[in-house]
Amino acid sequence: MGEFDLIERYFNRFGRPPARSDGMALGVTLGIALGIGDDCALLQPQPGMQLAISTDMLVEGRHFFASVDAQALGHKALAVNLSDLAACGATPLAFTLALALPEVNETWLADFSSGLFALADAHHCMLVGGDTTRGPLTICITVFGQVPVDGGKSTALLRSGAQAGDDIYVSGHLGDARLALEVLHGNLQVPAAVLAQARGRLERPAPRVALGRALRGVASAAIDVSDGLLGDLGHVLKASGVGATLHTELALASLAADSLRSHPHALSFVLAGGDDYELAFTAPASARAAVQRAAELSKTPVARIGQIDAALGLRLVDAHGAAVDNDFHSFDHFQ
Ligand code: ADP
Ligand code: MG
Repeated sequence: MGEFDLIERYFNRFGRPPARSDGMALGVTLGIALGIGDDCALLQPQPGMQLAISTDMLVEGRHFFASVDAQALGHKALAVNLSDLAACGATPLAFTLALALPEVNETWLADFSSGLFALADAHHCMLVGGDTTRGPLTICITVFGQVPVDGGKSTALLRSGAQAGDDIYVSGHLGDARLALEVLHGNLQVPAAVLAQARGRLERPAPRVALGRALRGVASAAIDVSDGLLGDLGHVLKASGVGATLHTELALASLAADSLRSHPHALSFVLAGGDDYELAFTAPASARAAVQRAAELSKTPVARIGQIDAALGLRLVDAHGAAVDNDFHSFDHFQ
C-alpha cells in the first residue's frame, strides 16, 4: 500500500461517505472550507473568534511503549493536544496529523485511526490534513480551536493571570497515570483491579474541554497538568509573577483516587506524577460559586487545594500549617 492509498483509506474522511453521515455538514458548520487533499486545508473561524493553536509530539520509547494498544495510542495522541485547548478555554475545531511509520501495518492503522476518530468525533474536531512518512514511529498532532474575543479582548485562559489571594483548584484525579507507569516498569506491585483503573487513566486520558470552556470569564489563570502538578503550577506562578501555598492533605484527600490514597508514594504521584491531563487553575475567592457552577455544568469534579501568594515561591503545608519539604520532582525531558 502506498502513501496516498494509506491516507485515503485510514485518514481522509472528506470526499467519501465519512463514518459519521453528518461529517461534511459538520465540517461546514465548524468553518472547515476545505479538508484533506489539497496543498492546504482552509479554516474559516466564526466572526468574533480567535484561533487557539497547539502542537504535541509522541515518540515511541519516550512517550509510549512499543507494545501499547494502537487504539489507545490514537486516543492519547489527540487527547494530549485537546488538553492544551482545554487549558485555554478553547473549543476544538480541527487538527492535523504528521505521522512517521516504520512500516505499513494495516491492523495497526485501523486500530490507531479508530481510537483517534472516536475521540475526534466526541469533540466535533475534524482531521483536515497532515503528512505521512517512513521513520521511527512518531505522531505529531496540531490542534486548532477557537475562543471568543469580547470587547476587543481575548477570553482565552492564560498562565499569566493569577493574582495574590486567588484560590488554586485542580480537576479530577492526579497520580493514577504515574502509578500505572511504575507498575508497568516493574517498580511497584498493586492489585490487578487497581492497575486496570490506573492504566485506563494513563492510556486514555479524558481531556477536560468542557471544564475549560466553562471556566472562561471565571478562572484567572489555567494550565493542563502534563508534567506533574508542582512543575506545571510553577509555570503559572512564573508567568503571573506570584507565589503559592498548597495544602498537601487537601491535595491527597481530594485528588488521589481511593485506590491510590493509602499508597506510600501517593503524595509524590499526586504532586509530581505527570501524564494526568487534568486542569490546574486559579480564581478569585469571589468566584467560588461560579467555579462550582462550571464544575457542575461540565460534570467535572474540582478541588480547592491552595492559595496564590504575593511572596514568590511554592510552599507546601500540612493540615496543621507546618511546612512540608518540597523534594518532589516534575518531569523534564532534558534532565
Ligand atoms: P504535500 O505534498 O503538500 O506535503 P502530501 O502529498 O503529503 O501533500 O499529502 C496529500 C494530502 O494528504 C494533503 O492534503 C495532506 O494534508 C494530507 N495528508 C497527508 N498525510 C496525512 C495524514 N497522516 N493525515 C491526514 N491527512 C494527511
Ligand atoms: Mg507531505
